[in-house]
Amino acid sequence: MSWRDVRGSELRPADEGRAVALAGWVARRRDFGGLVFVDLRDEGGIVQLVVNPELSPAAASVAHELRNEFVVSAYGTVVRRTPETVNPAIETGEIEVQANELEILSRSAPLPFQLDEDGVDETLRLRYRWLDLRRDKLQRNVRVRARLVGIIRAEMEAAGFVDIQTPILAKPTPEGARDFLVPSRLQPGRFFALPQSPQIYKQLLVISGFERYYQIAICFRDEDLRADRLQEITQLDVELAFPDREFLFALVERIMARIWRELRGVEVETPFARLTWEEADRRYGSDKPDLRFGLEIEDATDVTRGSQFGVFAHAPAVRFLRVPQELSRGELAKLEELAKEWGAKGLAYLVYDEEGEVRSPIVKFLGEAELERFRSEPATSVLFAADEPATVSRVLGALRLQLGAELGLIDREAQRFVWITEFPMFEWDPDAERWDAVHHPFTRPTPESEHLLDSDPGAAKAVAYDLVANGIEIAGGSFRIHEPALQAKVFDLLKISPDEQRLKFGFLLDALSMGAPPHGGIASGIERLLMALLDEPFIRELVAFPKNQAGVDPMSGAPTPVDPAQLAELGLALREPRQR
Ligand code: ASP
Repeated sequence: MSWRDVRGSELRPADEGRAVALAGWVARRRDFGGLVFVDLRDEGGIVQLVVNPELSPAAASVAHELRNEFVVSAYGTVVRRTPETVNPAIETGEIEVQANELEILSRSAPLPFQLDEDGVDETLRLRYRWLDLRRDKLQRNVRVRARLVGIIRAEMEAAGFVDIQTPILAKPTPEGARDFLVPSRLQPGRFFALPQSPQIYKQLLVISGFERYYQIAICFRDEDLRADRLQEITQLDVELAFPDREFLFALVERIMARIWRELRGVEVETPFARLTWEEADRRYGSDKPDLRFGLEIEDATDVTRGSQFGVFAHAPAVRFLRVPQELSRGELAKLEELAKEWGAKGLAYLVYDEEGEVRSPIVKFLGEAELERFRSEPATSVLFAADEPATVSRVLGALRLQLGAELGLIDREAQRFVWITEFPMFEWDPDAERWDAVHHPFTRPTPESEHLLDSDPGAAKAVAYDLVANGIEIAGGSFRIHEPALQAKVFDLLKISPDEQRLKFGFLLDALSMGAPPHGGIASGIERLLMALLDEPFIRELVAFPKNQAGVDPMSGAPTPVDPAQLAELGLALREPRQR
């Protein structure tokens, strides 16, 4: 038996006169005294059914029973609509189907929300995700995601990469987040960690002679959640032997260009722009700069060294933004709040009014050379940060983004990709009093900075790179250390003791000692990529069944308490009484 012989959404004027069996969901029913109109939805869209009680009284009485989201089948004839009833908003808008039989295949309880309703609470949407997924936007997102993965696979296979699956029950890999742990029943008291990434496995695969590996890998990171973060992410994971950065960049650029061409209909320019980490930090106050607008940070440290204004004179770095607007006191106060959140002590400013007159509490302290440097067009505001260079970057980077959005400076049609290169190897962790890997501990230093590992680790640069699209980090990777001695030295700097090195990474160190080729790779987060592609700020809109911001799945209720017997089997006991 077949439920239907064509999808209603595929019918066109050429089908006029055709007898059809259709099936789908009731998107809407309108009752016009006599005639009943039903919008029948299937995977491809909507077709209108018309039920005429005079021609088919039985179908009409079924039609009266229909409610939204009932599942029905209909038998009828395709007819052309009269010109004044054509609906240009839908692809089947020139025709409709005169239904002479109608059957309810499945009913729906009253809906917790309507599919075309805006602003429905997210928890409610997630609780009834099967309904939520019927909405146009999520249908589109899930389908675009599938096509995107298809493009990635096609390009990776064409470039000779082999798809290899790595374990989900694994050993901790340091990617900077907390691990999800899985207790082992067969080895009581022992735990697997879900992989934060297949990092070590992919290195081992290349060492094993798979010179080009890739995988669409799920990675688990137990982090606090935000609008743009998930605990389960999917990434294109890549590793290759004898890596050539230009080859890798060109491969990724080819994939991105094809994704943007086929899924967004825009031609992006390749090769992508490149900025060193230092330059990105200096000019945009960020390692993931949004280049869809200017508003670059300018440096004034050379003219403020001898300033009469103490804050400027004593600051290691003084930089500023020239904002193309005369900001009001209220606006400045709000920006000062933001600056403080990012670590500034205050926000010094100069405001040039329509006449070009300057208004500022600090102007009386500034000398000729300083005023000359800051002089700006009428109706412009100059905002300063004066502090340690890292604080200055953070503060002005945050102000730049805020102002870019608020003043409408961002060109929403622009697609701006940029590679960020030459990241620092380490950053100092003042609490733990040790160096932290900026990328991860397996990343190699540039040949020029290898010697700095002994003398000045903070100045050492890594062969590490990120790809940023419209201010969103969509990929990141590095060349790896393949020499056991160098790897041990980096572990030492990270204050991982020799015992701990053995315990945690002994197998990697052993593998590195048995003919490990130079290797390197990259990973690209599928959800982040979709956020950039679709200009979607909420990452959960790109996943079929996401958890909510509290890390809970409101639909299934997971995570749930478990049976004490199950815990006992695992050799576990809960210390605290369970909280509900
Ligand atoms: N393992 C890294 C990550 O998941 C990517 C890489 O270095 O290839 O972010």
